[in-house]
Amino acid sequence: MFWTPKPHRQDTTQLLPTTQHILHHWDASRHHLVHYLPVPLATPLEVLATLIPTWDKKPWQQGGITEVGQLYEGGKLRPFPDIQREYNLSSRLIFPYLQIKSCLSQNKPSANNAREHLSEFELLCTHRKPLKKLISINYSLLLQKADTPNDTHIQSWHSELGRSITKDKWDKAYSSHRGITSCATHLELQRKLLYRWYLVPARIHHMWPQSTDKCWRCGHQRGTMTHVWWTCENIKPFWHEVQNVISNIVRTQVTLTLELCILFIPPDGTAKATWTAMYHVLISAATLIARFWKQVAIPSRGLHIQQVSLNWVYETAFANQFGTKKHLKQAHVMWMEFLSNHTTQAAPKECLPTPTQDDTP
Ligand SMILES: [Zn+2]
Repeated sequence: MFWTPKPHRQDTTQLLPTTQHILHHWDASRHHLVHYLPVPLATPLEVLATLIPTWDKKPWQQGGITEVGQLYEGGKLRPFPDIQREYNLSSRLIFPYLQIKSCLSQNKPSANNAREHLSEFELLCTHRKPLKKLISINYSLLLQKADTPNDTHIQSWHSELGRSITKDKWDKAYSSHRGITSCATHLELQRKLLYRWYLVPARIHHMWPQSTDKCWRCGHQRGTMTHVWWTCENIKPFWHEVQNVISNIVRTQVTLTLELCILFIPPDGTAKATWTAMYHVLISAATLIARFWKQVAIPSRGLHIQQVSLNWVYETAFANQFGTKKHLKQAHVMWMEFLSNHTTQAAPKECLPTPTQDDTP
């Protein structure tokens, strides 16, 4: 059943919920685990009988063909005379062979363009390899292709930005929070931005054409993720303030980019303590933009500083409980120095917007 492509599978509603769940995940991730789709080459031959009406598997199995991969060579279906000779098949099987050829005409290497017959996962399934390190092999296959065309969020960012971000940088985006924050909410926000979870006007308009696709802040530009979070003229003053705060903390002029502020990709060569200090300023900025969702007003400098301070209260409380790391201490000192030099300019207390607006698009 697992090897049968989903549209041809018999009714699965009678299966146990756990089996249905596993089947769902297999369908969602099998393109990472096998080399050919829609019919992987490790597929048992009898599956073809469910794909081709009136096709009889017996003469093929009697000849010794047990899986689809045996019909392939060099990434292509072998000619009938080759198969006939090797497996001593009757020449009357030419018509069933043409049925197979038609059925597998859409079969192509999956996204990684692998030319080998079988993936490591398929070698394990067909017992060509001892069943060891199954979890490690599967994880490495799943992670290998983090930037394949199937990753629609990466494609969407590239198309909105009009440029590509390298795989190394995407890898940094996925891991830049490690050892920097202990707050799950920060990671959640970072992931929501990375995976473009927010329902910006352009996306709502795409789903529901009656709605406007214009940004609610400026009212005339298309409200894409990039625009609402970064390029809108009306949000720029806020990012300008954030840039000032960061430049004062690290004591050098820092130029903010979308990669840094929205995707949390640290600039090359940034020391861990410096990145920690920057991260807490940036994640606080993103928290506030989400909190001011669908409001024309933008967060003030005072509110931002208040939010970063709150983050540090939480981080230091957590560190006191579980032990402080050197870079966290250094980053906290950098923040405290900034506060002592600049708090007089900041409005100390401001009311947060109503909680109902809290990062809900
Ligand atoms: Zn705008």
